[in-house]
Amino acid sequence: MSDTIFSKIIRREIPADIIYEDDLALAFKDINAQAPVHFLVIPKKPIPQISAAEPEDQALLGHLLLTAKQVAEQVGLSNGYRVVINNGADGGQTVYHLHLHVLGERQLQWPPG
Ligand code: AMP
Repeated sequence: MSDTIFSKIIRREIPADIIYEDDLALAFKDINAQAPVHFLVIPKKPIPQISAAEPEDQALLGHLLLTAKQVAEQVGLSNGYRVVINNGADGGQTVYHLHLHVLGERQLQWPPG
């Protein structure tokens, strides 16, 4: 896949407000926050989108969800939060490096727009 802005963040070629990192994943604040707390969890492996994930990615995908949960606790989202993956054009995806949005600290509505 082609390089994305998130690969550049992983390589520290552009700045980001990184709040968690381990061998497999990175979490950083979204630059255009849609809630008082809005961060992204990404794999270091450049999977472009969830529909491109393979069976071999099973453990990594689980790790991303558990990382989202752990960082949500770390930043104090004790009253709930939402985890979102936008996939492809109709899903509203703009950056083609898989990422989980975690949004909180306000009442989120359903259905989403
Ligand atoms: P999506 O539309 O699901 O692909 O989400 C991409 C997200 O990446 C958007 O919420 C953007 O605000 C966010 N984003 C884009 N560039 C950056 C950046 N340099 N640092 C942090 N977040 C970014």
